[in-house]
Amino acid sequence: MDLSYGAENERFRLEVREFLAEGWKPPAVRGAELRAYIDDFRQRGVTKGYLYRTIPKRFGGSEQPVDVVKAQVIREEFGRARAPMEVTGNGMNMLVPTLLDRGTDAQREFFIRPTMAGKFIWGQGYSEPGTGSDLASVRTKGELINGEWVINGQKIWTSQGQQANYMFALIRTEPGAPKHEGISYLLIDLNQPGVTRRPIKQITGGADFCEFFFEDVKTPAEWIVGERGEGWNVSRTTLKHERASIGSADGLGAQFRKLVELAQTTPRNGKPAIQDPLIREALVKIEGWVLAHRCSSYRIFSLAAAREEPGIISLMMKLLLTETGHEIALLAQELIGDFALLEASQTETRGRGPEKWLDQIMGSLGNSIAGGTTNIQRNIIGERGLGLPRDLAMGDK
Ligand SMILES: Cc1cc2nc3c(=O)[nH]c(=O)nc-3n(C[C@H](O)[C@H](O)[C@H](O)COP(=O)(O)OP(=O)(O)OC[C@H]3O[C@@H](n4cnc5c(N)ncnc54)[C@H](O)[C@@H]3O)c2cc1C
Repeated sequence: MDLSYGAENERFRLEVREFLAEGWKPPAVRGAELRAYIDDFRQRGVTKGYLYRTIPKRFGGSEQPVDVVKAQVIREEFGRARAPMEVTGNGMNMLVPTLLDRGTDAQREFFIRPTMAGKFIWGQGYSEPGTGSDLASVRTKGELINGEWVINGQKIWTSQGQQANYMFALIRTEPGAPKHEGISYLLIDLNQPGVTRRPIKQITGGADFCEFFFEDVKTPAEWIVGERGEGWNVSRTTLKHERASIGSADGLGAQFRKLVELAQTTPRNGKPAIQDPLIREALVKIEGWVLAHRCSSYRIFSLAAAREEPGIISLMMKLLLTETGHEIALLAQELIGDFALLEASQTETRGRGPEKWLDQIMGSLGNSIAGGTTNIQRNIIGERGLGLPRDLAMGDK
């Protein structure tokens, strides 16, 4: 297996490194001044062709040819220099690629620049009470009345819901049509009368989600992406834009190293826990999955570099990532013992000592639900990957 990036990409790495050595010198200030410096730095990154590579120049990007290896080199070098990359979140990860594929030029003009600047923060309005895995059963209703959409209903589990000022949402606009054909993909301004936002307190003590209630909420007729009734397909637009990265493998590897550190520093029967053969065995099993995940991420990366589709390998990766993250959390829970009974957000030493594991332990369950539960992932892998018969419960999905 050749894991090198090749001479041309290594030359490119030196170029990026030089740009960062000269161009990333953050001032020792906070607040508006630092934000202005970062905005200017990002703009210089765009001019060099390092940032917002898949976004056309006319919408504020650097419009570079798709090249997953160069994109990976840039991520590695920016990471090494601790320099900020692009703004992240639902807006850049999901909405902007969807607008580039399916939006109108007017939508792109209006929404992309402020989203890149972090001014438009987007919530993903898909789930509703009773509508999660069977997403095509959304009931929130949109009617076109006097040139605008009038929306009534409820969305739930909206990540970043407290910060979001816009939402892209799946809304039932064609009540008589078959369920997948009756949904439209609408963009909604969340700061208007009729929108009620309620944070949901989680087991971790934080409130990362909100539920939203819509009562006669208005959105312009032209803020629909794709045609009426096409929302299901629009929401499934394949996001091909330099997505492959080995970032998740780096993240999982870092979590595992912290777990080993925890086992080295936590006493168990008068000795460091890592000397306990049962703990060592559990660690070795987890390390096997961490390495398998890393190899699979190289596989996807190589496929993407060769412009091939990874297919169900990406679903298998998500499954492996979530399950291994959960195994890491469970072993950490066993190691920290009584500390696991504390409430994460109330521990004064949060972020230090064994308490820093509490969010990870509690959050690892959420990861197995977000973006499609592990059961659903298994169904899809079984049906599309292994050719097993369709799941009766999912009906016409
Ligand atoms: C961290 C996190 C972030 C999220 N962010 C957002 C967001 O920003 N926007 C948004 O819209 N939603 C968001 N969600 C919601 C998420 O998409 C849903 O929770 C998820 O799709 C599952 O839906 P549900 O909660 O209704 O559970 P259900 O669909 O009711 O599932 C309940 C259980 O039944 C199982 N199940 C259901 N159907 C089948 C089947 N056919 N075969 C086998 N098992 C099945 C599921 O696996 C699960 O274990 C988020 C969730 C989490 C945890």
